Amino acid sequence: MNATTATRHEFQAEVKQLLDLMIHSLYSNKEVFLRELISNASDALDRRRFEGITNESLRSSEEPHIRLESDRANHTLTIHDNGVGMSTEEVVNNLGTIARSGTKEFVSHLKEQKQQDGGTLAPDLIGQFGVGFYSSFMVAEEVTVVSRKAGENTATEWRSTADGSYELAETTRAEAGTSITLKLKPASSDESLDDFCDEYVLKRIIKKYSDFVSYPIRMEVTHTTPAEKEGDAPIIETKDEQLNTMTAIWTRPKDEVTKEEHEQFYRHIAHDWSPPLSHVHLRIDGTFEASGLLYIPSQAPFDLYHPEMKRGIQLYVRRVFIMDECKELAPTWLRFVKGVIDAQDLDLNVSREMLQQSRQIKAIHRQIIKKVLDELIRIQNEQPEDYAKLWTQFGPVLKEGLIQGDEKDKERLLDLLMSPSTKETSTSLQSYVSRMKEGQNDIYYLVSHSLDAARRSPHLEAFERRGYEVLFFSDNIDELWLERTGEFDGKKLVSIGHGLVDLEATDSEDEKKKKEEERESRTKELSDLLSRLRAHLQEDVKEVRLSARLTSSAVCLVGEEGDMSPQLEKLMSQLGKEVPKVKRILELNPEHAVVTKLKSLHEADPKDPKLKDYAELLYGQALLAEGNQIPDPARFSQLIAGLMA
Ligand code: ADP
Ligand code: MG
Repeated sequence: MNATTATRHEFQAEVKQLLDLMIHSLYSNKEVFLRELISNASDALDRRRFEGITNESLRSSEEPHIRLESDRANHTLTIHDNGVGMSTEEVVNNLGTIARSGTKEFVSHLKEQKQQDGGTLAPDLIGQFGVGFYSSFMVAEEVTVVSRKAGENTATEWRSTADGSYELAETTRAEAGTSITLKLKPASSDESLDDFCDEYVLKRIIKKYSDFVSYPIRMEVTHTTPAEKEGDAPIIETKDEQLNTMTAIWTRPKDEVTKEEHEQFYRHIAHDWSPPLSHVHLRIDGTFEASGLLYIPSQAPFDLYHPEMKRGIQLYVRRVFIMDECKELAPTWLRFVKGVIDAQDLDLNVSREMLQQSRQIKAIHRQIIKKVLDELIRIQNEQPEDYAKLWTQFGPVLKEGLIQGDEKDKERLLDLLMSPSTKETSTSLQSYVSRMKEGQNDIYYLVSHSLDAARRSPHLEAFERRGYEVLFFSDNIDELWLERTGEFDGKKLVSIGHGLVDLEATDSEDEKKKKEEERESRTKELSDLLSRLRAHLQEDVKEVRLSARLTSSAVCLVGEEGDMSPQLEKLMSQLGKEVPKVKRILELNPEHAVVTKLKSLHEADPKDPKLKDYAELLYGQALLAEGNQIPDPARFSQLIAGLMA
């Protein structure tokens, strides 16, 4: 390169401001400069390939590639490419001005932010906005660009120390392409600076951001082999090495990608050593393009319920890594899905807030939901065993979608829902409905804190007698979505632990009336006893009444329709919400011997102190039957001992 006399030029005002911000910011992620320069090189190679299609003279004699060259002695790093290159005019326009619309806003946004938080720029800002070239000034005190446009004979040298101006000179370059040399800032000037001459640092950065760039990124690296004989000098060789793997497997035809490749790629992005359960290819065509590859893990990560859980979808733009954990791409109830989305022409705008509003991101978001739900339904139908496992891992997270999702998503999620029941270890709602008995109109469920407690619950008795199946739910979140869901396939979802049960729907009007009269007369008969018990238990229950749901147990506790259940109460208080204690209703089985006994006790002496003890025992029993804790176990066992003696 032989530069002739250089001329000095002023930067456009916005560039000046931008450079000033870049240089003086405490931007923590300075290494992204390399991603930006590589991405520019890759764009230039794309353009040359494209123009070469119609104009043979523009093709390169060498294969398209990018080369890194570091020079320790001079503390420089150079990025070469044999891409399309730039004419002098293009150098001036591209590297001395900011032509893009929206850039002015970007600069003022940066400035504002700098004022707000004292100089720290939020990470990702630069990557999300294409002002990549200027980011070299975060790490370099001087940048020299030598570029020769394909089809031209002379080259241009551009040089700046970001002091408000740049120098231009005519020079030569053997081939078309661009070389960008960074005179790196001394490490002593800034503690956050890595040593960008170090091949290991460079390798790491390339792996992280540019592994899937579709051109080889090469570098001469040194290999040291220890000497065979002691005392001899080790053998030091330099070798040309490719730093990126180039396997953007999401861009390859579906059928060509092998299982091993999927597993390897999944491990790379998810850091999960167990192979994924399944993968989903995704492609969006039309006004804008994106492709992607998503994975459904076979195992839940340990932090699935941690608010700061690492999300799994990475965003790429034209194969260049933009960000990890892109929350905007998928709803929280699909947070276990891993993968990459690669957008063709995303307007990489200023901030996360803008990303949220981006129409393209919204379209990708919808597509991800659709594709993942399609895949889950496929697994449910075709691999029921895998699906059962998947549901135990991710079911509770998917249930969050029954609260947060769109109506359409909720419908599909209800199809995916699995739950144990009185008849099956695990059933979908659809197959529950197919087993419903003649005359059964509603879908019955019981929420409890454990499956064991549910199976033993006295609430089941009347339903079992009629052969009605009852679904069991015991995840924290169940009550929340059940409350909102209301029905499935036109059938009401009814909690058997709430309200009055009305199983008489099948009986004839006459029978119904008869039963109603019977209960009324029993209630009248027992009304004094019921109110006495109620008086003894007024701290704990809001009513004592006769039950239609018990056949063998003496008592149970039920919630009033619309009241919070103890599970929900617990959940709310775990979430730090203050909730008033909701009293429930104690139901007695009018046919039970205990009730008959109590009745005669009460008739003999309504003031009998035993009645108070028995009331307490009944309440304790009802709590134990649902697997709940009793408030004072010592007292409870005393009462039992008293009873036995
Ligand atoms: P962007 O890449 O988003 O356009 P940059 O600041 O990274 O913004 O680069 C500005 C422009 O400079 C590019 O659009 C391109 O025209 C030109 N340019 C940068 N690097 C190269 C390169 N290696 N080869 C050819 N042109 C380049
Ligand atoms: Mg760029």
